[in-house]
Amino acid sequence: MIKYNLICRHDHDFEAWFSSSSDYEEQRKKRFVQCPYCGSAKVEKAIMAPNISTSRKKEAMASRRKEALAMMNEAAQTIRKEIEEKCDYVGEKFADEARAIHYGEKEERAIYGEASLTEAKELHDEGVTIAPLPDTIIPDPSKKLN
Ligand SMILES: [Zn+2]
Repeated sequence: MIKYNLICRHDHDFEAWFSSSSDYEEQRKKRFVQCPYCGSAKVEKAIMAPNISTSRKKEAMASRRKEALAMMNEAAQTIRKEIEEKCDYVGEKFADEARAIHYGEKEERAIYGEASLTEAKELHDEGVTIAPLPDTIIPDPSKKLN
């Protein structure tokens, strides 16, 4: 149950209980929510201290976003570390090496390296299984988080 402070168009304020916010919207649309003083169905939620709640919400959202970003960075770093430890770095020869392995010209092994977008697309079209390395996501300091 949610209690709402409501206000009618004649500025009568009163309280009403609803099972949920959608229940409130539903009842209000059907004009079931009426002012106990004048019977008006033109009612709205009375907003309590909007400035405080808005800035708190923004703060909470910004910190949640920062947390999510930190988690993604960590995950990306872990994956990169794993790849760097377990795979052979072939640098700019990545496309050639990946192809050679794919067509059985070289022994199968895990490699990583640099490939241009065009090379990556060609490999993909040839059916060579490749995946981009996750980049560490660095938040742009010029963009505010809220
Ligand atoms: Zn009223």
